[in-house]
Amino acid sequence: MLILGFGAQAGCTVNMSKVDINLGDYYEEPAKKLPVRKFDVIVAGAGTGGVVAAIAAARQGARTALIEVKGYPGGTVTEGGTSLHSFYNLWKAFPGAKKRQVVRGIPQQIIDRLLKVGGTSGHAEMSKGYNYDSVCTAVDTEMYKLVTFEMLTEAGVFVCVNTLLAAAIMDGSRVRGVIVESRSGREAFYAKSFVDCTAYGDLAAYAGADYTEPNDYPVVNSIGVANVSWEKLYDFLKKHDAITQQAEGIRSGKEGQIVRIQGTTAKLPGDFGAEARKIGMSMVTTTVHDNYFMFIKLNFKMPVSPTNRDEVAKAELELRRRQFRAIELFREYVPGCEKAFMARTSPKLCIRRGRLITCDYDISHEDVIEGRHFDDDVMAYGFHDNAPRYQVKDGGTYGLPYKALRVAGIENLLAAGMLITSDHRAHMSTRNTVCCMGQGQATGTAAALCAAKNCGTRELRYGELRNALVKGGVYFES
Ligand SMILES: Cc1cc2nc3c(=O)[nH]c(=O)nc-3n(C[C@H](O)[C@H](O)[C@H](O)COP(=O)(O)OP(=O)(O)OC[C@H]3O[C@@H](n4cnc5c(N)ncnc54)[C@H](O)[C@@H]3O)c2cc1C
Repeated sequence: MLILGFGAQAGCTVNMSKVDINLGDYYEEPAKKLPVRKFDVIVAGAGTGGVVAAIAAARQGARTALIEVKGYPGGTVTEGGTSLHSFYNLWKAFPGAKKRQVVRGIPQQIIDRLLKVGGTSGHAEMSKGYNYDSVCTAVDTEMYKLVTFEMLTEAGVFVCVNTLLAAAIMDGSRVRGVIVESRSGREAFYAKSFVDCTAYGDLAAYAGADYTEPNDYPVVNSIGVANVSWEKLYDFLKKHDAITQQAEGIRSGKEGQIVRIQGTTAKLPGDFGAEARKIGMSMVTTTVHDNYFMFIKLNFKMPVSPTNRDEVAKAELELRRRQFRAIELFREYVPGCEKAFMARTSPKLCIRRGRLITCDYDISHEDVIEGRHFDDDVMAYGFHDNAPRYQVKDGGTYGLPYKALRVAGIENLLAAGMLITSDHRAHMSTRNTVCCMGQGQATGTAAALCAAKNCGTRELRYGELRNALVKGGVYFES
């Protein structure tokens, strides 16, 4: 340090040979006493599933801490995709199927709060392409962050944003606590029950759970595009007969407006389609504002799993180049977008899958498409992101069993979100936002009940969990 300081002051080149960095390949970190905080439940990750898990746990009366590395809750809902798939079964694709809202409870309460502040399209019915989804629920990403932050605070959750969960403290196969790091220092948080909602499965991996890294999806950094005309985009796609999906809901405060458009680039003029494909851009977006495309996605397939920091750095740069090119394409080809600009990017690339955590049960593709239910269902769900190729039979639902959310080999750790389900086709259903939210309510509730009873996740009686979920507004098919 002295040599560096002196060199800089004197304005001369530092002689690196005098700086000893040849101290071996490992550095042994000195042991350190950390301050301890105690909770009943700790939820790792304040994203799609984590927000709901923490609210659910706190509403059961558990002292709940929520740990989030970013400065806001919301996760991939606010950064990745287009609409929240799906609160409903696929009734429109199956004449005669009974229309029903299959995910309710806390996820629906978030939508209710957003409705009051003009932050959602509502459950807008699809009028075209409804063999994919029956509704489109679009949200204003910034309002989502605020509304969920407020709901967490009202529920009494101790919300730690800008805080990294860095390690697990183990006592055999039981998680005793976690180590968190923020600018307030390094701390140990103890609790009785834990829920991993980090998407990457950080807590489960640190706790020694089994996992794999399938690397079976592209990574993404989506953008919000502002100063555009939604109506003109619609006219442009319509003129080229390129619209494959549309939905009507609330936009800029008015009902009955188009809030979701999907187009096929193959039918678009000039180089637009070919160039869009080169940068992994899909022509699907939603909005709740007249002059805004809420999500334009830029995809990139990494050669290795997105847990690799150095490859992620390359992908981050490549995605930002693709975002810039996307804006150029909109300006050049799409009427009403001549002065478009990027109004939002994700602070980091979004993943569709990181680590796949082994749980007591692995939901299969057949479970999903055959619409199977289990004797320990914690929710019902009916959307498949590969529809119409794969749909849940007869526009019905399948059940998510509690055992699919218990991390194998660990006594007191549950998992919710994109980190479960090994079969890629089944994962194309369970990874979707509303499914992750439902899993969040189930795991948060279960974790709180386990903490109250001082029991592990496998000792919790299903009947008790189910009663608590029903009281929390969760819908069951039977
Ligand atoms: C580009 C894209 C488009 C998509 N489109 C749609 C769509 O249109 N509709 C749909 O329903 N689904 C869509 N999905 C899928 C869906 O959005 C995700 O699968 C789902 O939101 C994942 O939720 P999650 O709770 O597992 O993770 P996330 O919502 O990502 O939450 C994880 C949270 O944990 C935090 N975290 C991670 N590690 C740590 C740590 N060590 N310490 C502290 N905090 C940590 C993260 O910052 C994040 O906030 C899309 C996904 C992507 C990537």
